[in-house]
Amino acid sequence: MLLEGKVVIVTGASRGIGRAIALECARHGAHVLINYWGRNDASYGRDAAATEVLNEIHAMRRRAILVEGDVADPVTGQKLVDSAIEEFGKVDVLAANAGICQFHAFLDLSPEMLERTTQVNLHGAFYVTQAVARQMKAQGHGGAIVATSSISALVGGGMQTHYTPTKAGVHSLMQSCAVALGPFGIRCNSVMPGTITTDLNKEDLASPEKLAYMKGRIPLGRLGDPQDVASVVVFLASDMARYVTGAALLVDGGLFVNLQ
Ligand code: NAP
Repeated sequence: MLLEGKVVIVTGASRGIGRAIALECARHGAHVLINYWGRNDASYGRDAAATEVLNEIHAMRRRAILVEGDVADPVTGQKLVDSAIEEFGKVDVLAANAGICQFHAFLDLSPEMLERTTQVNLHGAFYVTQAVARQMKAQGHGGAIVATSSISALVGGGMQTHYTPTKAGVHSLMQSCAVALGPFGIRCNSVMPGTITTDLNKEDLASPEKLAYMKGRIPLGRLGDPQDVASVVVFLASDMARYVTGAALLVDGGLFVNLQ
């Protein structure tokens, strides 16, 4: 119960890594604001994914609410904070996780794809972190912010030239925010997942050859599961990590260090 009684905002919590973070926080005793973007119903082809997360948290006898919002919109961060205050009265933790990655070659990548990826992944993390940090400062008892960066902050990807700079940016954002917000007792860290099986890379990993290649590159011998990342986020958000700020933790099964 590392987060007992804490209030956690998770962006992009309807699916993948964000979903696992929301559920793991609740398992550790937190109440959760579940952010998602888009229509949360079966007509959108996602079988009301956000509602499923909400129901799972309620089944654990924790409180949770759903808040729709595009993190790329500068007003969404404040909307999330206002909703959390109205429902729970405070915010203790932010998991700035929402992100997109359409795999695409470099030479014919459109300005629209570059701009949207940057707006969601980097600007979105900035706006939500800023809104939450203002609230945490006003509350006066510190807090923890954990952003989902990526192994891609450290290595290149020929089909991810628009994406990897955003993840390096998120890492850098947490470093600078650790400095800016340390005086208020607000810790800022990032996780850097390796290859985690989610909707984000489903198509990229669809071919058995690519899947076998990726597994072969990972010293622990398997792709990551969203739960592998979620438990590290809970650790960084908790008082167990009370003297950790400005850090980035690879959660990649050893992929990054496996050069040769
Ligand atoms: P995913 O399964 O595609 O889930 C993405 C989540 O983000 C969904 O909940 C989605 O909500 C939400 N989202 C997308 N655009 C949004 C927006 N503009 N505003 C608010 N929410 C938005 O992806 P994932 O693999 O879990 O990725 C989560 C994070 O991990 C991303 O930041 C990604 O860069 C990072 N990451 C992933 C991997 C990996 O291997 N999967 C590796 C390293 C880092 P809807 O359901 O409403 O669309």
